[in-house]
Amino acid sequence: MKPRTAGERLFLLLRDGVFDSLGNKQANWANFSELISRAGGDGDFADYVRGAMSAFAMRRLLRFWASEIGMTPDEANHVRRVSRFINEDLFPSLDAQLTAQVARGVIAAHAASSIEIPVGVRKLVVRDQKRLHCYLCRQSLDPAAGRDSKEFLTLEHLWPTSIGGDSVEANLLPACLVCQKITKDTISWEWVNVHNYVLPPQPSAKALDKGIGPRVRYARHYLEVLRLCDAEGLTLKESFLKVGPMNSELRHRTTRLPVTFFDLETA
Ligand SMILES: [Zn+2]
Repeated sequence: MKPRTAGERLFLLLRDGVFDSLGNKQANWANFSELISRAGGDGDFADYVRGAMSAFAMRRLLRFWASEIGMTPDEANHVRRVSRFINEDLFPSLDAQLTAQVARGVIAAHAASSIEIPVGVRKLVVRDQKRLHCYLCRQSLDPAAGRDSKEFLTLEHLWPTSIGGDSVEANLLPACLVCQKITKDTISWEWVNVHNYVLPPQPSAKALDKGIGPRVRYARHYLEVLRLCDAEGLTLKESFLKVGPMNSELRHRTTRLPVTFFDLETA
């Protein structure tokens, strides 16, 4: 994954740096992945858990710093204050160098999350086009349309602002209001409760519809996009554009059967 925002950089630092350095030989990440595969899960699921844990840690760190920053006016103390929280509350065994690196990442991601989309950046995304399309549903969008029109144009932060998604061109795509509502203030991919969405083999259309509503569909879509980022070293935006709009029907990559949420073998 090629990060373009402070939030993504923090996420990757946690996912690919911090978790590997925790634990000992008997209880570390590699063993956990193996345990899952022995229990019948696949690599996708182990990766999901790792990502979800990283996202959880990231949100906790950002919540802490949002409530604490006002009480730490001297900037010279910022890294030290966040580092203390990391060592006392989150990762007691993390070494000093990685702790300071994470602390700096938290401070940067917090700063990025409070910046509105500058007019110049909006222009770069819209590029004077008369007509754009929603990146999730292909609804046609008109930059001149009013808020009550279905063609009303919004710009979506692909990596959400609440977790350090900068308002830069590489993190923004045109979206319609309906899709904005699905993705905004919602459970994002890491919060979707895994076992609630494992469907029976060859589920009916009704079971699919009930089991995979628009929010879960979006979470599934996002996960697919993240996987492509990792597999091909793409940015989030490149990956979203390559995957295309949200599929109405999800099929297993190899069996082509309707999928369970994590393609687990459930039969
Ligand atoms: Zn849309």
